[in-house]
Amino acid sequence: MSSKLLSGKTALVTGSTSGIGLGIARALAGEGANIVFNGFADAQDIATLLENTAQEFGIQAVHHNADMSKPAEIAALFAFATEKFGGVDVLVNNAGIQFVANVEDFPAEKWDAIIAINLTSAFHTSRLALPRMKQQNWGRIINLASTHGLVGSAGKSAYVAAKHGLIGLTKVSALETAQTGVTVNAICPGFVLTPLVQKQVDDRAAKEGLSNDEAKRALLADKQPSGEFVTPEQLGALAVFLCSDAAGQVRGAAWNVDGGWVAQ
Ligand code: NAD
Repeated sequence: MSSKLLSGKTALVTGSTSGIGLGIARALAGEGANIVFNGFADAQDIATLLENTAQEFGIQAVHHNADMSKPAEIAALFAFATEKFGGVDVLVNNAGIQFVANVEDFPAEKWDAIIAINLTSAFHTSRLALPRMKQQNWGRIINLASTHGLVGSAGKSAYVAAKHGLIGLTKVSALETAQTGVTVNAICPGFVLTPLVQKQVDDRAAKEGLSNDEAKRALLADKQPSGEFVTPEQLGALAVFLCSDAAGQVRGAAWNVDGGWVAQ
């Protein structure tokens, strides 16, 4: 019988085919959790991901391609997780997208998509996960917010609004579960070099005639005093801590991991 922290438990990580979600899913698998992956990718890449994760960590890994902007597909994702594993013990609300433009130029459909994927999906997953978590008196919800849940940046109205909202949802959910074995917290990363941020690096390189490395340094210099990217592995380690007994009284936190961004 394995004695890992999450042996026999099931973690659903939304948007886990890439970037931070993938890093967190791998960290939770390393603690023995079965993983429900979600997110978009080529079918062959998903098959390889499932096989490699299951083999590397000795757990079961499945994938559901729910579009997190669609409540009916989120419900189907939960039905799938319940059928496969009996339910979700650890919920990581991570799926997210970005778009950068000033408010007056911001396409309305991009606003709607960002609010739906980065904020409203976490309401739907939480409402579906909480009854079972409360009933078994154990559960963990970890919402991937951002430094942009704590402070603003020009050009990112929808993203900043969604991430501030996600921290609000985190606080309220934490209060509603405060006297149970369920905890709800948010992680607020600074810049992590994932495809979401590489696009901002590419845009900056094109706009300012910079090399890829120069554009990365410029992006970090604007916001992140350490001058270094946060890594998905560092965020995975924090997610594991939040799942531990030691974190049992960490409730409603918005925990920045940001190279000093919000200390300024
Ligand atoms: P990423 O682009 O690498 O990964 C996003 C994941 O979400 C992918 O798996 C993608 O397939 C999935 N996804 C996108 N739209 C989806 C949808 N409609 N339905 C289901 N899945 C969908 O991005 P990332 O940088 O790893 O970001 C992950 C989360 O972390 C996001 O919520 C993001 O806002 C947040 N975040 C990122 C950074 C950063 O610097 N990269 C910083 C702070 C917060």
